[in-house]
Amino acid sequence: MKDTHRHQGMRKKLVETVASKGIKDKAVLAAIGKIPRHLFMDSGFDSHAYQDKAFPIGADQTISQPYTVAFQTELLQIKKGDKILEIGTGSGYQTAVLIELGAQVYTIERQQELFKKAQRFLPKLGYKPKKFIFGDGYKGLPDESPFDGIIATAGAPYVPIPLLSQLKIGGRLVIPVGNVSQTMTLFIRTSEKEFEKHELGSFRFVPMLKNKN
Ligand code: SAH
Repeated sequence: MKDTHRHQGMRKKLVETVASKGIKDKAVLAAIGKIPRHLFMDSGFDSHAYQDKAFPIGADQTISQPYTVAFQTELLQIKKGDKILEIGTGSGYQTAVLIELGAQVYTIERQQELFKKAQRFLPKLGYKPKKFIFGDGYKGLPDESPFDGIIATAGAPYVPIPLLSQLKIGGRLVIPVGNVSQTMTLFIRTSEKEFEKHELGSFRFVPMLKNKN
């Protein structure tokens, strides 16, 4: 597990790229600049890890593009201590970004292989989510709700109602919605029964799948 000057140099360039695409939140950019993304990927991708691209992480899944991670994180407007639910732990990279911003993170993954790997790996880097959950993100995490923010890192064919109902008043759900490509959608809970909805551009995610178990 090495983080060399070469990696740090490439990471600095990545931060510039992400900023040039419109990310303004300083804390989000600092997190991208700090987290050794190459360690979340297979060593074979070492020289590609700081390109602004998604890459395979096994189990037919991908580590999200850094710009996308930054875009979704910025929309959550995280304050220190916020309770955040993440659907789709994957490599754990987005999880690390959330923790770097001071969030208390509950993260759900449905694929055993990725779940175990992230659970072993993240604490080694000093990133400790409040809980790793092996399960189905469509259900959210009712026992730990309500949340200040919920982020889905897989494309949902529809908006799961439990996720909306597990938001605090004022809480935010950031979720890519659609089948082939997805519209980044932000819901803000404005009262017990009301939500504001914002559609924020087109993205491409791996699909959010129903649990296999
Ligand atoms: N944030 C991750 C993204 C991984 S891709 C990263 O940057 O590495 C999306 C992840 O969502 C995959 O790991 C996939 O297995 C997971 N996923 C898909 N459907 C899910 C569901 N219903 N519940 C929980 N996780 C799910």
